Amino acid sequence: MTDFRLTGGCQCGALRYVLTAPPLLAYACHCKECQRISASAFATSCGVLRETMHIEKGELGRIDWTVESGAHRYGEFCTVCGVRIRHGDEPSRGIFSLRGGTLDDKRWATPAAHTWQASALEWFTPPEGALLYDGQPTDYTPIMQRYAALMGLQ
Ligand SMILES: [Zn+2]
Ligand SMILES: [Zn+2]
Repeated sequence: MTDFRLTGGCQCGALRYVLTAPPLLAYACHCKECQRISASAFATSCGVLRETMHIEKGELGRIDWTVESGAHRYGEFCTVCGVRIRHGDEPSRGIFSLRGGTLDDKRWATPAAHTWQASALEWFTPPEGALLYDGQPTDYTPIMQRYAALMGLQ
C-alpha cells in the first residue's frame, strides 16, 4: 500500500489533497446537520487516518462548534470557494471525516451504510441490503467490514 495515492480537492481547484492510504470506511449521513452542511439531502463521509491525508495546495479555513453530546468538532474548507473538505474532533480521535464528494474518484465514497435514517428525507429509499441506522452508530466495525468488501480491500 506504500504507493497508494488518491487525490481530491475543492470546486475552484485552489485546494488539493492526497490520501496515501484508502479510507477506512464511507457512509451516508442523513442527520439534519449534514443536510445543511452539504446543502443537500445527505452527506457522504469517508473516515481517513489523519496522517494519511496531506494538503498539497491551498489553504484551509476553519469553523468550530459543539455537538449535542458536548463534543467539540470543527470543519475545514477551501478559503477561496468555501467547499467543505473535512471534519475533525478535539481532542483528536486520529481520524478526519473527509467529505466524499471532493474525491476525484468518487467510487471510494460509495456508502457502506446510511446513518440517521430517522431524519432522512421522505423520498429517500435506501439501496437494497444497505446497513441502516436510525441515528449515530455506536460500533463502526460492521461499516468498516462492509466498506472493505465493497472496495475489494479484503
Ligand atoms: Zn450527519
Ligand atoms: Zn476552492
